[in-house]
Amino acid sequence: MIKYDLHSHTTHSDGQLTVEELLLRAVEKNIDVFAITDHDTIAAVKPAKAFIASQQLPLSLISGVEISTKWESFEIHIVGLNIDVDNNALTELLSIQQQKRQIRAQEIGRRLEKNGFDGIYQQAQALAQDAQITRAHFARALIERGVAKNFPGVFKKYLGRGKTGYVPSNWCDMQTAIAAIHASGGQAVMAHPARYQMSNKWLRKLLTQFKNDGGDAMEVAQPQQAPTERQFLGELSREYNLLCSQGSDFHFPTTYLELGKNLYLPKDCQGVWQLWQAQEGI
Ligand code: AMP
Ligand code: MN
Ligand code: MN
Ligand code: MN
Repeated sequence: MIKYDLHSHTTHSDGQLTVEELLLRAVEKNIDVFAITDHDTIAAVKPAKAFIASQQLPLSLISGVEISTKWESFEIHIVGLNIDVDNNALTELLSIQQQKRQIRAQEIGRRLEKNGFDGIYQQAQALAQDAQITRAHFARALIERGVAKNFPGVFKKYLGRGKTGYVPSNWCDMQTAIAAIHASGGQAVMAHPARYQMSNKWLRKLLTQFKNDGGDAMEVAQPQQAPTERQFLGELSREYNLLCSQGSDFHFPTTYLELGKNLYLPKDCQGVWQLWQAQEGI
C-alpha cells in the first residue's frame, strides 16, 4: 500500500519544522508520497526537491500550497496539489496574498497593542522571520506572554472570528484560487471541510460553489477524526463528484497528531492521486 500524506507545513509558513526536518520525519514515518502545502507560499518546494535529491530520500514530493480564500463570511482553505511552482498566474496570485498577509498582520498588531500587548507585532514577526506570517505566529507570541495555555485557548480569546485581534481578511475568492491552481497544472482540493464550524446545510452550499468553480477534490481523511465524520465526508465526495484527498495538516510534533497517521479513505472513494498515476502512465 502506498502511503500518502498530502497536507503539511514548514517554517516557510506556520509549521515549526524546517523543510529538512519535516522531510526526514516523513521518511521515518514511511510516507511514500508527500505534499508540503504552506499557507500562500511555495517557498519550501524547491529546497525540498533539492534535499530529497541530495539525500536520495525514498519519497516522492508533490508540489503543493494552501491558499486562503474568502467565501461568504468564511475563510476557506484551498489546497493546490501537483502545481508548477514556476507558473506566473500562480506566483502572481501568491504574491498578492502575501502582501495581504503582511498588511493584515500589522493591523492585528495594532489591535492587540491597543489592548495592552505592547510590541506584539515585533514578537510575532520575530517568530515568523522570513516565513509567511499567520495568526499562528501571533498565537505563539500571546502564549509566550502567558495569556492562554494553548492554541484553542488563544484563538477563542483573541484571534478567532469576532475577537479583539481578529481582522476580517480580503483573501481572493475560491474561483480565483482554483483558476490559478489549474493554470499551473494542479488540482484544487477543499481543505478540511469539517473544520469551518458551519452547519451541514452551509457545507453543502460551499461544496456546490466549489464544484461550480471547478474544484477537483476534497479532503476526506485526517488523523484526528471520528469515523462517522470520515464516512460522511466520503459520502459527500461521491454526491458532489469530487475526488478525495488525505493529509495530516502537520504543523509541529505533538502527542496527538503525526505525519501519515490514521490516513486512509473510506471504501468506494477515489483518491486524487489517480490523476497523477494516469499522467505518469503507471
Ligand atoms: P491565518 O492563515 O493567518 O488565518 O492563520 C490560521 C492558522 O492558525 C491555521 O492555519 C492554523 O494553523 C492555526 N490555528 C491553530 N488553532 C486554530 C484555531 N483554533 N482556529 C483557527 N486557526 C487555528
Ligand atoms: Mn496553519
Ligand atoms: Mn487550513
Ligand atoms: Mn494546513
